Amino acid sequence: MNQYYRETWAEINLDHIATNVRSLKKHLPDDTTIIAVVKANAYGHGDVQVAKTALSSGASWLAVAFLDEALALRKKGIQAPILVLGATRPRDIDIASKHQITLTAYSLEWLQQAEKNHPTSPVNVHVKLDTGMGRLGIRDQQELKEAIVFIERSPSFHLNGIYTHFATADEQDTTYFEKQFECFLHLLEVVEDKTILIHCANSAASLRFPKKVFNAVRFGISMYGLAPSLEIKRVLPFPLKEAFSLHSSLVHVKKVKKGDKISYGATYTAEEDEWIGTVPIGYADGWIRRLTGSEVIVDGIRVPIVGRICMDQLMIKLPEKKSLGTKVTLIGSQGEESIAVDEVAKRLDTINYEVPCMISWRVPRIYLKSGSIAEVRNSLL
Ligand SMILES: *Cc1c(COP(=O)(O)O)cnc(C)c1O
Repeated sequence: MNQYYRETWAEINLDHIATNVRSLKKHLPDDTTIIAVVKANAYGHGDVQVAKTALSSGASWLAVAFLDEALALRKKGIQAPILVLGATRPRDIDIASKHQITLTAYSLEWLQQAEKNHPTSPVNVHVKLDTGMGRLGIRDQQELKEAIVFIERSPSFHLNGIYTHFATADEQDTTYFEKQFECFLHLLEVVEDKTILIHCANSAASLRFPKKVFNAVRFGISMYGLAPSLEIKRVLPFPLKEAFSLHSSLVHVKKVKKGDKISYGATYTAEEDEWIGTVPIGYADGWIRRLTGSEVIVDGIRVPIVGRICMDQLMIKLPEKKSLGTKVTLIGSQGEESIAVDEVAKRLDTINYEVPCMISWRVPRIYLKSGSIAEVRNSLL
């Protein structure tokens, strides 16, 4: 097993990921294909560990953003079908075909360019439709018809899916969502073979509109136990279990005198004689300087970060002397107290998606399964 020699780690609870996938499966009509979205190293949780957990809990497909991410999963022994959601360079389709990776065909021009690279065997493609996201995809029936004919006539491609992506499925107001849904239905009129995978739902749409998912869903953020938005958090159809937590330990504890300064810029001044602890996590780990002044948990009590966050360390104000090695929780719970990913996101004025993604891979990931450590992933060693 991989080791780590640092007092900072992220814990990934694989049981929680398994539960979230199983709960979604029960919530959706029978035989709905679950595509587990593991792009960006599984939203910072770890691609292969999450992929295996999802596949053994009811998912049968995986999705990533880029071809490199799909190849990384193949290299780690994952044999399940993988869909690349983003754009793949036309010249790379042969690599995709060799590793049986499904690509997104998002325009007729892409198909024409990719075709010129004659893959050894046909590449599976899902055609992407732009129904209002404005990112990738075919926008009208005419181009879709031509694309389908092009794929059918070409020895380079095999059509096995068609999909679109919603821009506002996580918002209370469903007007724009309905508009996109209608547009998807309209475009689907030109698709004769309805046995291929047809999908539109991300986490938000899968949770809210289980009857509108066609035959597959792309399950991302909520597989990790996070709500797609605060609006949806209030109306979840089943409880989600957060998988990510972040911890460190006190590596130095000292008493400073009233008036003593802490950290770069000497911006913090002790108001009285104070106990100050040093924690070995900093902005190079993704605990960015904007989090200066926020709180962490020590012995079940919230305490503030004082002074500027450094690249590798930060200081906290303690209510009393604590011993070396005392656990410090930055995300997650300790005793009665807890700091949710959503709280950190709010503090940073961003969405929860960004929080586990921004914890850098210098922080080792510890995988928990049935309450014990199943694996350690330390990208440095
Ligand atoms: C990231 C992504 C998803 C997953 O969305 P969640 O909101 O995380 O469930 C689904 N589809 C596409 C095209 C994506 O890029």
